[in-house]
Amino acid sequence: MAQQNDKFKALVAHCKEYGFIYQSSEIYDGLSAVYDYGPYGSLLKNNIKDYWWKAMVQMHDNIVGIDAAIFMHPKTWKASGHVDAFNDPLIDNKDSKKRYRADVLIEDYMDKIEGKINKEVARARKRFDDFDEAMFRSTNERVKGYQAQIDEVAKRLATAMTNNDMAELKQIIEDLQIADPEGGSRNWTDVRQFNLMFHTQLGNIAGEEGKLYLRPETAQGIFVNFLNVQKTTRQKLPFGIAQIGKAFRNEIVARQFIFRMREFEQMEMQFFIQPGTQKKWYDYWKEVRLNWHKALGTPAEKLRFHDHDNLAHYADAAVDIQFQFPFGFKELEGIHSRTDFDLSSHQELSSKKLMYFDPATKESYVPYVLETSIGCDRMFLATMSNALINEQVPGQDDENNRRDVLKFHPALAPIKAAIMPLKRTNPELVEKAKGLFDELKLSCHCQYDDTGAIGKLYRRQDAIGTPFCITIDFDTLEDNTVTLRDRDTLKQERVAIDKVAAIVRERTDMSTLFA
Ligand code: ATP
Repeated sequence: MAQQNDKFKALVAHCKEYGFIYQSSEIYDGLSAVYDYGPYGSLLKNNIKDYWWKAMVQMHDNIVGIDAAIFMHPKTWKASGHVDAFNDPLIDNKDSKKRYRADVLIEDYMDKIEGKINKEVARARKRFDDFDEAMFRSTNERVKGYQAQIDEVAKRLATAMTNNDMAELKQIIEDLQIADPEGGSRNWTDVRQFNLMFHTQLGNIAGEEGKLYLRPETAQGIFVNFLNVQKTTRQKLPFGIAQIGKAFRNEIVARQFIFRMREFEQMEMQFFIQPGTQKKWYDYWKEVRLNWHKALGTPAEKLRFHDHDNLAHYADAAVDIQFQFPFGFKELEGIHSRTDFDLSSHQELSSKKLMYFDPATKESYVPYVLETSIGCDRMFLATMSNALINEQVPGQDDENNRRDVLKFHPALAPIKAAIMPLKRTNPELVEKAKGLFDELKLSCHCQYDDTGAIGKLYRRQDAIGTPFCITIDFDTLEDNTVTLRDRDTLKQERVAIDKVAAIVRERTDMSTLFA
């Protein structure tokens, strides 16, 4: 656990030191759970969005994109259920005055028991040569006991959440003797519901009438435009509408860096289908979305499906793709079978038909919806934590010679190539290097850098994840070749200067991810 904490701290520090993420309004001591993306962070984030957009919209001829406004008619949120049910169970500690999500306190308790199991497993693995983890977990009495505790708590939690039973949540916290993680006190208030939507006021209408919400999800902008899009693009079912945009949630517990923010970005796709086909499309999108993650080279063991224990009010099936963040397996993306809940509710409250006429069956019906929803910021955090490695410099014997390197998939890397003259005081080298930079910048983000010794410049590029460094040296002046250094292997190849742009383009092209 301590090692995980250290890794996470190093990641957060790296994000700041190298211009990926800054605390919002830092000069005023920051705003909790709000972050700004720096020069490399914004490039990486754009590449993540580009990868998602291309995979969903460009690669599917039956998915189109939209960009809906953040503000929507307030009735939208009544119909969607957010006004009445978008709540988290809140509990305050009377001594520390700290505020917590009751369900998260209980989940953290289960995580602690899970940690004990993992310790037992790790200990046993060291003891036995041909260790069979599944067998150990199912036969070891202590592990079985821990697992039974987790299962029982998980069951009580799911039932309480499904029934909106705040008294039972408090009871669970008392039964498990859960203490305030900050101060250790068990002096808790009752649990009550807390609505997560931010609101603001329209300029020209006073009072409740003019109350506007900042959207807590992008999906509703898609639902209310369903017929507009279907008619203007002449799509037939099944078809999807994709969108990337900001969402806002007044999270009670906002920690773990950009994992849980109050302002964040979602990449959502609603796939409209014939009622009754939802199981087929649920399985289909589970597989497609998992493969999207794996294509980036994310190790399979860091990704897993986790079925929802308690379903949201709109869903008949829901699963998370969880990623192993430095603080454990947590939700990265959700795949939800949303039935016809949203379209039917909007149809009812707006009194406007949101039906689809199926030319095949000659019937009109409200389509069912399969949703894939991923947080762009969580994907950013997953990408960073997967990529950041502190390693002994390859090919060096001295184990103290280490480097921090971000091993991004080249298509996601913020800067694709850095161009450096071997000697900045030599005008011919500088001119050649700047000429190559001017050529490369036409097709990708690259950098010209002559601000230090080559070794130091390499390290800086490693730390921001640049896949290729190109050095212009004295041989270049003779034979027009340059050194192309690979970030991961540190192998250097000699290539003709007029081939460099094509090589970098080819090796960093996003299409390699769709092959
Ligand atoms: P959680 O259980 O972690 O609060 P959720 O189930 O409420 O998440 P969804 O409503 O399914 O999340 O939202 C879809 C996706 O949006 C999530 O998988 C996550 O990647 C992202 N997301 C949700 N809330 C936040 C947040 N506060 N900060 C950053 N990303 C978020």
